[in-house]
Amino acid sequence: MESYSLKEIQVHIKQTEYRPKDKQASFLKLVEEVGELSEAIRKDSRMTETKSIKGTIEEELYDVLYYVLVLANQYGIDMEEAMRLKEEIKQQKMAKRKVEDERKKLEDSST
Ligand SMILES: [Mg+2]
Repeated sequence: MESYSLKEIQVHIKQTEYRPKDKQASFLKLVEEVGELSEAIRKDSRMTETKSIKGTIEEELYDVLYYVLVLANQYGIDMEEAMRLKEEIKQQKMAKRKVEDERKKLEDSST
């Protein structure tokens, strides 16, 4: 089975999406798919049990990802770059939290 990078999936969607300009329609579809994901999670519908992707958490997670990437394309956003920037912020927060936790431990041990 082939594997794809996030960028390859985003490019594929850009080349095949039939409504490439309608941002509001894409956002409404994203919300609709989140609702379908909610139902699949509530039913705990997994592919291993149904032998088909239809109506499963697997299908609905992909549908959500699909419309996230459709919107990214419509706004001209490179999601790999967005991920890189967000991960930088996350790493900074984690490093700051680690320093704070160590300082707190030192304070607690000295009292
Ligand atoms: Mg769906």
